[in-house]
Order: sequence, then structure tokens, then C-alpha cells
Amino acid sequence: MTVRTGAQYVERLQKTPREVWLRGERIADVTAHPAFRRPLAQIAHLYDMQHDPRFADVLTRPGSHGPVGTAFVAPRSYDDLIARRAAYRLWSEATFGLMGRSPDFLNTTVMAFAEEPGVFAKLGQEYADRVQAYFEYIRDNDLFLTHALITPQIDRSKASSEQADEFLHMGVVEETADGIVVRGARMLATLAPLADELLIYNLPGLRPGDEKHAAVFAVPIDAPGLRLLSREPYDDGSRNTFDHPLSANFEEPDSLVVFDDVLVPWDRVFLLGDVQLANAMYAETSLRQHTGHQTGTRGLVKMEFVTGVAMKLAQSVKIDGFLHVQKALGEAIAATETCRALLMAAETAYETSSNGTVRPRFDFLQTLRMHLSTQYPRIVETLQTLGAGALLMMPSAEDFDSPVAGDIGKYLQGAEGLNATDRVRINKLAWDLCGDGFGQRALQYERYYAGDPVRLYAFNYLGYDKSTCLRLVDEALALAGDPVEAVARMRAGEG
Ligand SMILES: Cc1cc2nc3c(=O)[nH]c(=O)nc-3n(C[C@H](O)[C@H](O)[C@H](O)COP(=O)(O)OP(=O)(O)OC[C@H]3O[C@@H](n4cnc5c(N)ncnc54)[C@H](O)[C@@H]3O)c2cc1C
Repeated sequence: MTVRTGAQYVERLQKTPREVWLRGERIADVTAHPAFRRPLAQIAHLYDMQHDPRFADVLTRPGSHGPVGTAFVAPRSYDDLIARRAAYRLWSEATFGLMGRSPDFLNTTVMAFAEEPGVFAKLGQEYADRVQAYFEYIRDNDLFLTHALITPQIDRSKASSEQADEFLHMGVVEETADGIVVRGARMLATLAPLADELLIYNLPGLRPGDEKHAAVFAVPIDAPGLRLLSREPYDDGSRNTFDHPLSANFEEPDSLVVFDDVLVPWDRVFLLGDVQLANAMYAETSLRQHTGHQTGTRGLVKMEFVTGVAMKLAQSVKIDGFLHVQKALGEAIAATETCRALLMAAETAYETSSNGTVRPRFDFLQTLRMHLSTQYPRIVETLQTLGAGALLMMPSAEDFDSPVAGDIGKYLQGAEGLNATDRVRINKLAWDLCGDGFGQRALQYERYYAGDPVRLYAFNYLGYDKSTCLRLVDEALALAGDPVEAVARMRAGEG
């Protein structure tokens, strides 16, 4: 098989009925449900882009059995990193950076796993072999993965093994001849109802005693016993695109994942029972570099987009002549350009791994992750303060074809001849980003997609090479010298 079309992606979902619950009902066919119709169409469009002559050269690379997605190909040079960014960017622009978990995100993850077989081989060569075979299976069938790394919150003061029930947090109940049996829950699997596969691994933070919770594996999304509890949708399929241009297109359903004694066959078990290795895996593979490259590229597109919406909003009623508005827009531009600079710096200062592949530099990408978590919410707040009351006063699409259409045309027009339809359009775009539940999710995504920003910053301090900063301070402290001697020198006229 080669890269899939959108139709092939949808067809496979229809053939693999999964257990998805939404609003108290089990969904028989996710492809036919109105709440999933639009996100499904967006993902299908991304797959179709791989076959579009305008994009195919960027989104795909030659493979031994036909083209494969660019994200699956391990980079071996700086140029390869640039090519990967170009591919990430094309898919990000297609969704304005609003669909964080497009297929390239986890395609990159399985590529990063396979790129460092030595990490998995620490438990035995068979583990590394399984990782490689799984990577090839996903790549050659161009499958779409979701992932669930986080334990349900319940009691965050306790480790997984200390929770009221040992298997509230997903863990391995039993090892059998066929595989491992997994029970408990994980969050927060974005786009899970529309995925082909679920990948599970740990973020660092497991403690001794958590051995049953240390597991890296993959299951098909229709595995018996796997339940997806999908959250209430912001768009249930009934929103029109004039009133909700973004939420009626780019909803990304999220799910709680429940494992009701799911059997994971051995050939899909990549790490088991080793707390130290499960914690270290994230750093010992190039996972965080490669995923940071993809998420940073997507984040840049989203920052460009939201900055553009802020500019249009300001221009629409000519407030962009005021100094404080220009300052707010200038800050948004600076925050956006910082993203670009960090991405380019991470690529330029790339590192070469022991097996000859390259990866963008970690600390610049990590800075970008932290930067997005604080700067995206700031620009969203800028939208709220620039739009102010007008954001809450926009009529519905139906009003444009009603007896009040004349009032709308007259009183909702903008500056310099901007007609009411265009002005309302801009405000609707802004409201979807800064007021609607959809926009709040998009904001919450930037705060948390890379983990808790509080701990990201704290780890940044703990792990930082502080030598230069501290050396400079030590040199300045040395200037101060001894207080008694300093006074004596002054009195002696020695300065
Ligand atoms: C829109 C969205 C989509 C997402 N999609 C995915 C996905 O597809 N796959 C996936 O795996 N994850 C996904 N995530 C989850 C994301 O990785 C987590 O939200 C993030 O790691 C934070 O974890 P948490 O939500 O459990 O918050 P917590 O870690 O519980 O934090 C909640 C609060 O408690 C504090 N806190 C909790 N524990 C500690 C501690 N030990 N030390 C200090 N402070 C603590 C935090 O600082 C924070 O203020 C998504 C999140 C969002 C918002």
C-alpha cells in the first residue's frame, strides 16, 4: 500500500466499528454521525492533499513500495529537516494550525521510536524488533494514530500505584501467553473516535512501585474492551459556517480512554514494567525533538493566523491608528516571530545521532513549547480587548435575509467602506477564537498540549546549563570584593 486518499481513510473507519460513546449513546458508525462529519472531512482532506500534484512532492517521499508520508522518513541532513518543516506546514495551513493532532504528529512519533532501537532493546532485542515492525506497518499502511499519555487526575498527590484502586490509572493486570491484559483509564486522546490506532506511552513521572503502569504499546482502535468516551462537541454538526467559520470546520473531538481488560498482543508491546526506562524513554529517543518540530511548526501557523485576525479586527473599525492598539499588535507580531526564530535556530543547530540521523536542537524547541503556552493566550486576550462589545453584538446569518437586514447593513458596517457582511465575518472569526467554547479549547490546547507549563518551566530551570549565567554573576561579585578592603582603598584614594 502507498499513501492513502481521504476516501480510503474513511472506508477503513467504516470497516472497523469502534466503541465510541457520545451524549449517552453508543455511536454505531462514526463516519455517519453529524458530530464527527466535519473533523472527518478535514482529516480526509489532509490525506487527499498527499495525492494533489501541488503538494505531493512536499508531503510524500519515495519508499520501497511507493510514496510514503514525509513525516515517516528519518531526517539525515539539515535539508531533510527543512523538508519536514515544509510538509508539517502544508498540513498546518490547511487547518490554520487549529487541528493539533493531524496524522503527521504521531507519524513523527513512531518514526522517532524506530530511529532509536537501542532504547527499546534494553529490555531485549525482541522489543526493538517489534517497534521497527510496528513503525513499518503504520508507515506502509499510512494509518492514523491517536495517543493517551496522561493518567486521569483523580488524586494527583498520589502515584498511580497508590490510587484508591490500583487500576484507576491504566495498568497491566496480567501477562499471558498471547500478550498483556490492560485495565483502567487514560486521557486525553484527541481525535480518537476517528483514528485507526491508539499508541500508549508514559510521560516522565512514574515512581518506584508503578511497574504495572510502565508500558508502551499500541492497539487498534477497535480492540475488544477499548471504550472511547467522547466529550460534548462544540459543533454537533448543526452550526453554519458563516456564524462559526472555524468551529464548524475544525472541531477536534477529545476522548477519555477506558481499557476494560484489553488484550495487547506481544508483537505490539514495546516496553514493559521498567519504570526507569519508561521515564527515560522520552529523553533517550529523539521523540521530544521531532514532535517539538512538528508542534512548533503548527504553533507558528496558528500564531500567524491569530495575529492576522487581530490585525483585521483592528483595521475593520480603524482602531489600529491608536498607539496602544499598535503596541498590542506589535507584541503579537514579536511573539509570532519568536516562534519562527526558535524553529529556525533549532534546525540550524541540529544534532547528529549515533546512527547518522539528525534532529533539531531540543532546548530551542522546548523554549518554543513554553513560549506558545503563554503567548497564544495573550493574543487571544488581545482579540477580546480589540473586539470588545462588538464581538457580542453580531447578528446571525439568518438576519441578513430578514426585515432587519437594512439595519445590519447600516449600523454594522465598518470603517472606510467596509460592508457589514465583511465586518461581521471578521468578528465571527475572532469570536470563534476568543469567545466560543471551540476557541477556549484551542487556547487550552496551547497551554497544555506539551504538558503542564508550570512543570515545563521548572524542569527548564533544573535542567539548564547555568554555567554562563552564574560565571558572569561571579565575575561581577568579584568586582565587589571585601567590604573592609573596599572602604580602605577608597580612603587611601585608590578608587
Ligand atoms: C485540548 C487538549 C488536547 C489534548 N490532547 C492530548 C492527546 O491527544 N493525548 C494526550 O496524551 N494528552 C493530550 N492532552 C493532555 C495534556 O497532555 C495534559 O492536559 C497535560 O499534560 C497536563 O496534564 P493534566 O491535564 O492531567 O493536568 P495536571 O497535571 O493534573 O495539572 C493540573 C494542575 O495541577 C498542578 N499539578 C498537578 N500535578 C502536579 C504535580 N505533580 N506537581 C506540580 N503541579 C501539579 C498543575 O500545575 C496544574 O495547575 C490534551 C490536553 C488538552 C487541553
